[in-house]
Amino acid sequence: MSVVGFDFGNESCIVAVARQRGIDVVLNDESKRETPAIVCFGEKQRFIGTAGAASSMMNPKNSISQIKRLIGRQFSDPELQRDIKSLPFNVTEGPDGYPLIHARYLGEMRTFTPTQVLGMVFSNLKSIAEQNLKAAVVDCCIGIPVYFTELQRRAVLDAATIAGLHPLRLIHETTATALAYGIYKTDLPENDQLNVAFVDIGHASMQVCIAGFKKGQLKILAHSFDRSLGGRDFDEVLFHHFSAKFKEEYKIDVSQNAKACLRLRAACEKLKKVLSANPEAPLNIECLMDEKDVRGFIKREDFEQISAPILQRVKAPLEKALADAGLAVGDVHMVEVVGSASRIPSILKILAEFFGKEPRRTMNASECVGRGCALQCAILSPTFKVREFQVNESFPFPISLSWKGSVPDAQNGGAEQEQEQLVFPKGNPIPSVKAVTFHKTSTFSVDVQYSDVSDLQAPAKISTYMIGPFPTLRSEKPKLKVKVRLNLHGIVSVESATLLEEEEVEVPVSKEPAKEDAKMETDEKPNDTSAPGANETDVNMQDAKGTAEAAGVENGVPQSGDKPVQMETDTKVEAPKKKVKKTNVPVAELVYGAMVSGDLQKAVEKEFEMALQDRVMEETKDKKNAVEAYVYDMRNKLCDKYHDFVTASDKEELMAKLQETEDWLYEDGEDETKGVYIAKLEELKKQGDPIEERYKEYSERGTIIDQLAYCI
Ligand code: ATP
Ligand code: MG
Repeated sequence: MSVVGFDFGNESCIVAVARQRGIDVVLNDESKRETPAIVCFGEKQRFIGTAGAASSMMNPKNSISQIKRLIGRQFSDPELQRDIKSLPFNVTEGPDGYPLIHARYLGEMRTFTPTQVLGMVFSNLKSIAEQNLKAAVVDCCIGIPVYFTELQRRAVLDAATIAGLHPLRLIHETTATALAYGIYKTDLPENDQLNVAFVDIGHASMQVCIAGFKKGQLKILAHSFDRSLGGRDFDEVLFHHFSAKFKEEYKIDVSQNAKACLRLRAACEKLKKVLSANPEAPLNIECLMDEKDVRGFIKREDFEQISAPILQRVKAPLEKALADAGLAVGDVHMVEVVGSASRIPSILKILAEFFGKEPRRTMNASECVGRGCALQCAILSPTFKVREFQVNESFPFPISLSWKGSVPDAQNGGAEQEQEQLVFPKGNPIPSVKAVTFHKTSTFSVDVQYSDVSDLQAPAKISTYMIGPFPTLRSEKPKLKVKVRLNLHGIVSVESATLLEEEEVEVPVSKEPAKEDAKMETDEKPNDTSAPGANETDVNMQDAKGTAEAAGVENGVPQSGDKPVQMETDTKVEAPKKKVKKTNVPVAELVYGAMVSGDLQKAVEKEFEMALQDRVMEETKDKKNAVEAYVYDMRNKLCDKYHDFVTASDKEELMAKLQETEDWLYEDGEDETKGVYIAKLEELKKQGDPIEERYKEYSERGTIIDQLAYCI
């Protein structure tokens, strides 16, 4: 079983694998540790990762990047609208209100969903891991930003399915970092808590988490973020600065030329990196536009001045994290910075001022998320024995259930009212299961929704569940126990519904029902052994407004170990003639904007086809290269070591054939099928092999004669 961690960044990705001796970040085909998150569509195949980045300059309109910004978002999302303005490829609104990416592939314009494209990126990362491990990779852990909504999380899972991966967990990136930080620490306190703030500034976003460490465990105290504050925003500032300058000085408007934009952006990114280590930096681009070479220059302090509006925003997530964790600045013992954009000196200055201490860089800023993901996978996988270390994760958004409440009697004459009950408050442990008891008489629907969307750029409603039908013959007011699960990925779903009816029975109650319940409890145990925070709590809901009571929820923090309501009824020894009859009630799910299983299956098949096409093209290239290599090699050898083993006429004939093949390779044979190249090589070998044989025979004989001579 594979134990692999993937950090899919907006810009670049890391693949980390667990080996018996520890976690390794593995190299891709180009021997690089980071793989660009790019898919470039070509006339005959796709180029993904490093190959994609190599082709993106030549083919910008068909090179899809920044996929992490596009997945699981509605087209109308203002953030998405802002993002797509600076993308070189075309994104439009699909019939379902979600974005569609347009690219020219295999000679025609096609559309792809962001989830599909992410699936392609995952396929590439998967094959990097497989080549390294020399084994199939299926099980894995994938890092996701903490601010990902339900839909974004589901989109990542769908993309993983498209790539043939099975994530054991989607783990928040900062939590993965905290895990990678804590698990190796041998000096964590037994009783006190070491509070560490992790600040990750990546390509497009900033995330902060404060974690409390004790021996053998970490607890996430708070998560905060700015979804749109990352390295690329600094590139953008420089880009606007220089485009304005060049407009004035060189009378060119780069915004009118996609390639010039791309080149200027790339140069600005480079410039920004130079400024991290130097007080000033030049910017020179040859032939940027209208055959004009441009030159520029900027000092670090000027760069800081023009980036002031972005830098000002760094403080807010820090303040929020502290407030949510309920800590004062002085309670944070250490600050660790990760994410490559945190290399900008002015960001470090802000962090140092805010926390009153120098931020540290103990961790490898670009690899820690990937490493943490692999560690989490190792913890969850039975294949590895990992040091005991618990990860007590917290969910960043409050989730509630809402439903139309029919209020039957006294309360208000049967009117239907919108009811809402908080099920998972902000900071709820992940994973978690809660049972909600409804009193309903017929099929009803329940919405799962965010109770507060102020931190989110998403509609409040996540999903709707139809619960029913169920028979209501025996009881006037049947109890329905509805189980809501916040799973390891941070995805919420209504998992099951059970009709509970009290029955008068002849036989005294045995321990059976209690056993059944106990069994159900164990069945529900989350499969994450690393997360003891997983808890199950019952929330008892009356249908009437104001009477909803929450059992087992105290001060908004669920207490694990609270007894489910009906369990108490079941085990009552004083009521031996009452038995609770349980009937499973059907639950139908409707998740807004998620891929339905038929579409997902189609996407899996499509990916398989495209991957096959890529493989055929790669093999064709290999066979073509083999023909070319044979031509050069044989020509050299004919003039050199095969010289004495071929007649003049045979040599002349073969030389002519080689020349003819070389010409063919550059003309008619430039773009042939794999089979044609194989046949061509065979044809050449038919003439070349006898010569090679004669030479081999002679060399071997020579060696034997040499050996014999040596023996004598
Ligand atoms: P995200 O985490 O937002 O999804 P990511 O993980 O791909 O994206 P990182 O690789 O952590 O992002 O960071 C990439 C950003 O860091 C880019 O904007 C890049 O320009 C910037 N960066 C890299 N090196 C430096 C440097 N030396 N100085 C300043 N910025 C840098
Ligand atoms: Mg990152």
